[in-house]
Amino acid sequence: MLILVVNCGSSSIKYKLMDMKQESVLLTGLAERIGLVGSRIKQVSHTEKELVLEQDLPDHKAALETILKGMTDPQYGVIEDISMIKAVGHRAVHGGEKFNKSVIIDEEMMQEFEVLSELAPLHNPPNIVGIRTCQALMPHAIQVGVFDTAFHQSIPKHAYIYGIPYDLYEKYKIRKYGFHGTSHKYVSGRAAEILGKSADDFKAIVCHLGNGSSITAVKNGESIDTTMGFTPLPGLPMGTRSGDIDPAIIPFLMEKEDLSIGQVNDLLNKKSGVLGISGLSSDFRDLEDAAVEGNERAELALSIFAYSIIKWVGAFTAALGGLDALIFTGGIGENSKDVRERVLKGLAYMGIEIDEDKNKSRGKEVIVSKPGAGVTAMVVPTNEELMIARETLELASN
Ligand code: ADP
Repeated sequence: MLILVVNCGSSSIKYKLMDMKQESVLLTGLAERIGLVGSRIKQVSHTEKELVLEQDLPDHKAALETILKGMTDPQYGVIEDISMIKAVGHRAVHGGEKFNKSVIIDEEMMQEFEVLSELAPLHNPPNIVGIRTCQALMPHAIQVGVFDTAFHQSIPKHAYIYGIPYDLYEKYKIRKYGFHGTSHKYVSGRAAEILGKSADDFKAIVCHLGNGSSITAVKNGESIDTTMGFTPLPGLPMGTRSGDIDPAIIPFLMEKEDLSIGQVNDLLNKKSGVLGISGLSSDFRDLEDAAVEGNERAELALSIFAYSIIKWVGAFTAALGGLDALIFTGGIGENSKDVRERVLKGLAYMGIEIDEDKNKSRGKEVIVSKPGAGVTAMVVPTNEELMIARETLELASN
């Protein structure tokens, strides 16, 4: 079955066309700057034919129409007709409490999903536009929603309720939801497979470290706690997001700096994290280079990031009642030997001994701890698109 995986952001669409017979990628692409000056689409086929279209893409509909044309282009495309795409898997960000697993999209589901935009005003609306447009352009295809929050719906109540008046949970559904669920699910499942462990007897901590970072405790295939919360802002300090701070800092800052709600939101989401600490960059490659050259604030940002991971791993090991595997994924987790080294050295008390040689590898599945320790440290590159395609296939086949 041919499945199209679509990830619609506010001004971008990432997509992958997959042949699920071999789980192979036929074509991958990115539409950028939709609705802005300088919009473009780049697609690369499995035969490495590259098509770059620099043209006006005023909205998601125009972008998706052009994307579908590119797929069927006689020279650069990979399929003859759009009707060959049997199902479309949509990355959907916030599924609230309603969606604890992937679902086939119908009108009833869309109405429930639209209500959830209140919880994710930046992320859900572009997802909705993407789904509606694909429904219109590919009415023959089954559409499936795969939610970032769904995997975390197994988190127990004592871990998802915040210490604020309970009626605010009832009134507004303020609680921990967690994000990156598709990645945490894929990576923890793959790690169990690699280690030959049965998924229902496996305690793992997944560190998804990218521009946005979150850590999840996975017990017997289910998320039992995670560092992100009501929004993707808490937990670890990230590229530009603050992670956990004392909430009393917010009214203090609003008063002292005369900031509006929008400005304080902007400060915490776009100007904080390792960018804010270092004053230099949100990109870990820049920070690592600067730290080597003696930049103290870059070094501080890196050590705060590693310290935060070490602390969460300790907390989640306690929540899990032990640990079999510590897994790194995401752009930083897969590629930064420096971050992994800092973290693993801080976890020596667990009996983990880092294998310096293996830790040099980048972007590959590899065990980076020496044998013998009770806990295996490993890298498993994430593959959210494959996970979305698998869940789409399962629902579409039924
Ligand atoms: P997103 O959360 O946007 O999906 P990614 O998971 O792609 O982000 O991660 C992007 C981050 O990965 C970059 O900001 C960069 O800091 C980091 N990164 C990528 N390659 C390396 C590398 N070789 N060394 C250190 N960090 C890297």
